[in-house]
Amino acid sequence: MTNRFSLAVHGGAGTILRSQMTAEKEAAYHAGIEAALKAGYAVLEKGGNSIDAVVEAVCALEDNPLFNAGRGAVFTSDGKHEMDAAVMEGTNRNVGAVAGIQGPKNPVRVSRLIMDQSEHVFFSADAAMKMARDAGLAFEDADYFHTDARWNALQETLKLRAEGKESDDPARRHGTVGAVACDAQGRVAAATSTGGMTAKAPGRIGDSPVIGAGTFADNQTCAVSATGHGEVFIRYCAAHEIAARMRHAGESLETAAHHVVMEDLAKNDGSGGLIAVDAKGNVVMPMNSEGMYRGVVTQEGRFETFIYSDEESA
Ligand code: ASP
Repeated sequence: MTNRFSLAVHGGAGTILRSQMTAEKEAAYHAGIEAALKAGYAVLEKGGNSIDAVVEAVCALEDNPLFNAGRGAVFTSDGKHEMDAAVMEGTNRNVGAVAGIQGPKNPVRVSRLIMDQSEHVFFSADAAMKMARDAGLAFEDADYFHTDARWNALQETLKLRAEGKESDDPARRHGTVGAVACDAQGRVAAATSTGGMTAKAPGRIGDSPVIGAGTFADNQTCAVSATGHGEVFIRYCAAHEIAARMRHAGESLETAAHHVVMEDLAKNDGSGGLIAVDAKGNVVMPMNSEGMYRGVVTQEGRFETFIYSDEESA
């Protein structure tokens, strides 16, 4: 049976505050989100699988230095990169996740490799990098991952910290990229990739690669990719909680996602948002932050991109 396919992507809830945004930067973010949608749409349009679509969409965002994943990843407190990523297929609950890697050009491809080739589902650092190397995945040196914007954000954050203050600028603090899709066969999938939070402690792992927290997919309910204050998303099992509310309480995708973002997370210091799709192709993109770089495309090929929370979106 042919379904209505759809794809949504996000480039993180760590949006530049409206007061500091320029028309030029805004255009660059919209273009980056649209390029990711196009990469995923190209797969779905040919009747491809949702898992391939979300991986291609996330790779496009990882390759764009504007977003906090892959090339534009933020720095740890000791000036290094530690990236996390995960993929999940809703048909069979296949999962691949990776934490704390530095070097692979596209961390999401490492998570896909783990899903496809290992009997295990979650690897960290050296072992994951060895698997990526052995499989011939592309690597880049530290220069490729260095952006002045992220380096300056680290310096400013460390300075504020030394003064006993926390940064309240979301663009400086965090970001993540992700994609969810429902293909023409009604199969859903999710992928998420992140550099984490600026000046995070070495070894810290956020919600993005934690299945059920920042990433989840199940054809019975939905696929979810989250962005925001990772510790809170982990505590509240954010992504799985949406699926659980749909499965056990019979809630719609919209009601369940809204509850988790606006009640569970917002009321517990969990700023951020998420994108989610169900097996009928319905998409929601709720957030409790000022913005979330995001976009959606449906079968008809209508591409829509948004930045701030008060913009009209699914
Ligand atoms: N959720 C990510 C993390 O905690 C960061 C973000 O999305 O802003 O690592």
